[in-house]
Amino acid sequence: MNVASSEAFSLDLEYDAPEHESLPHVVRFSGGRSSGMMLVLLLEQGLLLRDRGDVIVFNNTSAEHPATYDFVRACSQYAEVEHGIPFFWIEYATYEDAYNGEWTRRGSYRLVNDQPLSESNPTGYRWRGEVFEELVSHQGFLPSRHTRICTSHLKLRTTNEFLAEWFAGKETTERRGHFYPEPQLTDSTLIARHRRSRGKMDDTELLRKKAFVRSRPPALPKQNFADFSRVGASHMASGVFAERGYPEFAPMSGEYSTEYVSLIGLRADEPRRVARVMARNRLGPDDPERAKREMTDGEILCTPLADADIGNEEVLAFWADRDWKLGLPPETNLSNCVYCFMKGTTAIPSVRRDIASVDAVLPEKLRSTPDTPSDIRWWADLETRYERRPLKRYKGRGRRSHKKVTVGFWGVDADVNYRDLSELEEDELVTRAGFSGRAALPCDCTD
Ligand code: SF4
Repeated sequence: MNVASSEAFSLDLEYDAPEHESLPHVVRFSGGRSSGMMLVLLLEQGLLLRDRGDVIVFNNTSAEHPATYDFVRACSQYAEVEHGIPFFWIEYATYEDAYNGEWTRRGSYRLVNDQPLSESNPTGYRWRGEVFEELVSHQGFLPSRHTRICTSHLKLRTTNEFLAEWFAGKETTERRGHFYPEPQLTDSTLIARHRRSRGKMDDTELLRKKAFVRSRPPALPKQNFADFSRVGASHMASGVFAERGYPEFAPMSGEYSTEYVSLIGLRADEPRRVARVMARNRLGPDDPERAKREMTDGEILCTPLADADIGNEEVLAFWADRDWKLGLPPETNLSNCVYCFMKGTTAIPSVRRDIASVDAVLPEKLRSTPDTPSDIRWWADLETRYERRPLKRYKGRGRRSHKKVTVGFWGVDADVNYRDLSELEEDELVTRAGFSGRAALPCDCTD
């Protein structure tokens, strides 16, 4: 392991209050270079402590590039084997439950190991878009830049549920779901609930969209934390973590909410994102913005790279000399969910080009795979199957009219969609009204 590049940079965690240093620290690891540099520096400079309850979390959306999964695996092994800090891969998952006397499905999470899901590895991570589709099928509509259900459910809420159990100091996650061997949620219950909530989808379409989530197991079994971390679960029984005396159940909201420090890999050259994130620390406990942003009441945000004045140049210099690194070239735009709509319509053709160029140089196991999220046709197919076509009411000059609109990843009646983006060449796309007008935005998922 080359440590010279680590010694050239120094992180000094800046705490708003001295007592924050003794709180558990949570590294929100996104799988990118910046977040990876933050993690390695924290580990190598001894800033993460197992006995404090510190933990590293990676939210698997099942839509990352194969090379990103490879990098996450390398980081998780480094954190656990070399530094003894637990690193958990977690995924959004649903289960069936009774609510107000009626069967329904609810969103929660499960722990997964760092190898892909297969018949011989049933607790492996999903990477063919299954987690993403489970959410879309459960919600019945696609995320968009106005309704980022993917960020809120696949990342933020999932992490919060995990932390509530981790901080409670239990050895296992809780079992969720009923004990019947078969699903209990029937077509008629589903349709009746949809009508009660004034849903307008016809029965066939509703059942078709719900089919994927209903094919998932009805219950989420109890899982041992120790089975998903090489570090084991001993953090609960020793040191500062045990002395703090967290209760059986760690409240994440309210007056007695569990306080913890959240470490996010935003850089100094992203000042607007940093300012937006840090502004949340000033939100009072009752501020509705906290709930809107899926912040738990005890979360204290910290951006160590930005505090140390580390920008993209330093991140690239840091990884240049290291023995292991992210296999995707820095000039490519393949981080996060590969074809994420937040990258913007103008960026999608470059993602297509990047995929082709990295496939030409990467070893076979790290290349894109057809009909998975590293293939734009997966996104086009998902969009076709889950876009909504509601009747929109228009008002004007005392008259009312209704028009059928399409709501997909790019919003209402967008001029561009993944079908076009997957089929048309760039020179054909630039003539589209909605194409050039949509500049690429940073995904901001870690925010
Ligand atoms: S990277 Fe994009 S598609 Fe993936 S969860 Fe974030 S906003 Fe959603």
